[in-house]
Amino acid sequence: AHLDRIAAVDGAVHAFLHVDAERALDTAAEIDRRRHIGEELGPLAGVPIAIKDVLVTKGMPTTSGSRILEGWVPPYDATPVRKVRDAGMVPLGKTNMDEFAMGSSTEHSAYGATHNPWDLDRIPGGSGGGSAASVAAFEAPLALGSDTGGSIRQPAHVTGTVGVKPTYGGVSRYGSIALASSLDQIGPVSRTVLDSALLHDVIAGFDPHDATSIPDPWPSMAEAVRRADVSGLRIGVVKELDSDGFQAGVRQRFHEALELLEQHGAEIVEVSAPNFEYSIAAYYLILPAEASSNLAKFDSVRFGLRVTPEGGGTVEQVMSATREAGFGPEVKRRIILGTYALSAGYYDAYYGSAQKVRTLVQRDFDAAFAKVDVLATPTAPTTAFKLGEKLDDPLAMYLNDVATIPANLAGVPGISVPAGLAPEDGLPVGIQFLAPAREDARLYNVGGALE
Ligand code: GLN
Repeated sequence: AHLDRIAAVDGAVHAFLHVDAERALDTAAEIDRRRHIGEELGPLAGVPIAIKDVLVTKGMPTTSGSRILEGWVPPYDATPVRKVRDAGMVPLGKTNMDEFAMGSSTEHSAYGATHNPWDLDRIPGGSGGGSAASVAAFEAPLALGSDTGGSIRQPAHVTGTVGVKPTYGGVSRYGSIALASSLDQIGPVSRTVLDSALLHDVIAGFDPHDATSIPDPWPSMAEAVRRADVSGLRIGVVKELDSDGFQAGVRQRFHEALELLEQHGAEIVEVSAPNFEYSIAAYYLILPAEASSNLAKFDSVRFGLRVTPEGGGTVEQVMSATREAGFGPEVKRRIILGTYALSAGYYDAYYGSAQKVRTLVQRDFDAAFAKVDVLATPTAPTTAFKLGEKLDDPLAMYLNDVATIPANLAGVPGISVPAGLAPEDGLPVGIQFLAPAREDARLYNVGGALE
């Protein structure tokens, strides 16, 4: 049914970069057979899933949205992919994304934009617009995404889906093509909070292949949803992210969701996070710095594309021609920013200062969580904007992530849950909840209570 749906609508939505129908049907048949002979299978066995193209998949092309990886077929599965396969889930294919996960609209994909199923002239969010759109368009019931500054949560917000960024270290990054290693997290996208929880339970856990993986076991997120109870829960509204800078209808739905939680016994209090306003500035130094280093491996020798200048060339000329042709403009912009910020004489002024701001943001979280159990914000300032609207204005694109980036800087978990449609444009709005590191279950509790 999902493959039929993809065939029917993906021409218009363009959520997928690659669909492997044959392998999906084979996997499904195999799960059926195992079920038939009485094998005990997990709750998601046989359930289809779409996989963001940032995750490497054995025998299935992986591009991370870039020309430089066109045609590359990885020899292994990323740990979250291996785990969904081990759970008997059925990968349908790979979803579209901004090149190397840099963007908030999926327009920076080298393979064309994804369209928001709610209005095909609008962006599906980014960088994981393909994963969110596939779920919103009923092409897949579940998807995997990656969130470095909001790429799971902001697409969820603009497509009316649920998206979760787990605690940093909660889900393995092994086999996730790194954007910024100290910020990246893999997480679920779904239509309900319970669905995300079930997928979270499958992908979470220690992985010796990821040096930042948390060794402790996790409680069941699905249980947290099933037992959702917010009575006595203290929810802090971040004053700085509840301002005029946010679209009126986004704020209206945000406050209605809070009222609903209050009716269910939650206590809503205002908290201040004075350093959050510097998050974007710090992020756009830390991220390009880490990305410029991570992307150095695309050297024309080890992976994907190789462009040889006419008449041949030295190793350096081949590398430079390959990177010139293989990387898009946003990727080049960030490599230049990052190498500049890391260069001798500038390191302390830029990268060093950004790391200090990062500490201040973490302290804001610590101070807030001393008073409340979870924080709440609108997930993003506006509903889905028009395709092309912010493409030529990088700063306007970056400002979209004002509410999502603080969580990545601090490593804390976040969820975006649908909160209805904005009255002025009829487009989806998400409410974001943030919890202390390792307290992902709190997000499922409060999200589950809204469902
Ligand atoms: N929009 C943000 C950026 O462009 C977030 C990206 C992400 O989370 N991968 O960096």
